[in-house]
Amino acid sequence: MTAPVPTTVSAVTCLGCGCLCDDIEVRVAGGRIVEAGNACRLGVRWFGDGSTPELALVQGARATLDGALAAVRRLLTDAQGAALVYLAPDATSEAQRRAVAIADRYGAAVDGATSDVALGGILAGQRRGRAASTLGEIRNRADVVLFWACDPAERYPRYRSRYAVDPVGAQVPAGRAGRTLLGVSVGAARAPSDADVPLTLAPEQETAALGALRALVLGTALGELPPALTPLADLAERLKRGRYVALVLDGEPGAQDNPSRVEGLIALTQALNTPTRAALSTLRAGGNRSGAEAVLSWQTGYPAAVDFAAGYPTYGPERRGIVRAARGEIAGALVVGSVAAMPADHLAALRGVRIAAIGPRASASPLGCEVVLDTAIAGIHEAGTAYRLDDVPLPLRPPLRGRRSLADTLAMLLAGAAQ
Ligand code: SF4
Repeated sequence: MTAPVPTTVSAVTCLGCGCLCDDIEVRVAGGRIVEAGNACRLGVRWFGDGSTPELALVQGARATLDGALAAVRRLLTDAQGAALVYLAPDATSEAQRRAVAIADRYGAAVDGATSDVALGGILAGQRRGRAASTLGEIRNRADVVLFWACDPAERYPRYRSRYAVDPVGAQVPAGRAGRTLLGVSVGAARAPSDADVPLTLAPEQETAALGALRALVLGTALGELPPALTPLADLAERLKRGRYVALVLDGEPGAQDNPSRVEGLIALTQALNTPTRAALSTLRAGGNRSGAEAVLSWQTGYPAAVDFAAGYPTYGPERRGIVRAARGEIAGALVVGSVAAMPADHLAALRGVRIAAIGPRASASPLGCEVVLDTAIAGIHEAGTAYRLDDVPLPLRPPLRGRRSLADTLAMLLAGAAQ
């Protein structure tokens, strides 16, 4: 028997992290991915070989698609008033839009995979505004890059080579040699080890340091700084001398042990826009998490923590769906997307809740679901749109085809729901 001849699909988009690298060269042979060229180690792991189960189960027994969808509708109807639609990773924005429409139909709350920490950044942005930019702008303009308590090498491996600090940019023709890399480590949250100007702070110094930096940038007289903070004067000067400054922080769960970090960095970025031009770049994990916020914003006017129980969308960050689930206030939940990519505390909050899961590898869910429908993975088998960490939407060119579409399955669920 001859081995299958590999074919190559170019310009595939990786959802392994929020960088959404769209230059992946995927080689396919015999219906399996055999190589993901240009992908980093996380991307190679995210693509895998592209194999997924294709089951439809109700109470653990095989079911037809129609039977499984009818069971999901019954579960959501029974839970009306105490229902949750959970947006898990690895769904296209087309699928997310239909999931939000289902929540609207059944009067459910909507919550998602990064609501805990990402919501902190969203709320800070709502209070203060935000000076942001696209990654293309950072690549082409930023001559000073400050990584604050994060090293993208670990969770966003190609951020440096594609956007900052390594590539050549239109206004930075010398690439890395033309950029100054500043790195502030906070306790165990390390900045890149090759920073041109490294600085290490103790966690209890961080909030004061952010306030002092802002004051120094604005030229406010501070008096004498404590010895541990005196290097901030040099750091502030280097920031002010930049033609375009990019400040980078990690916006994902586990990354922000100081809840005031994001607010302090937003304020510092805004202050820097007086003497120079600056933008804050927030690193986000993969699976189209930013897309969930974009879809909710255009569908409801709110980026997260939405509830349709009143018959119209309301916004309640303090009583969002996963918080209510942890309090025992949710009777039934529809998880849309990859259950395996949900945070452990969200899985724990949903234990004891009646659950239907529709998404990639749903049948491998540890949640003990009443209904399970395996579907395609966004970007691997399903076309559509996903949002990069800078909120730029990108098209998905799946290298494999022929799996049950998540977006189409949700459209069928919605079409059969009582009006
Ligand atoms: S950096 Fe992120 S998006 Fe790019 S290949 Fe690696 S995991 Fe995929």
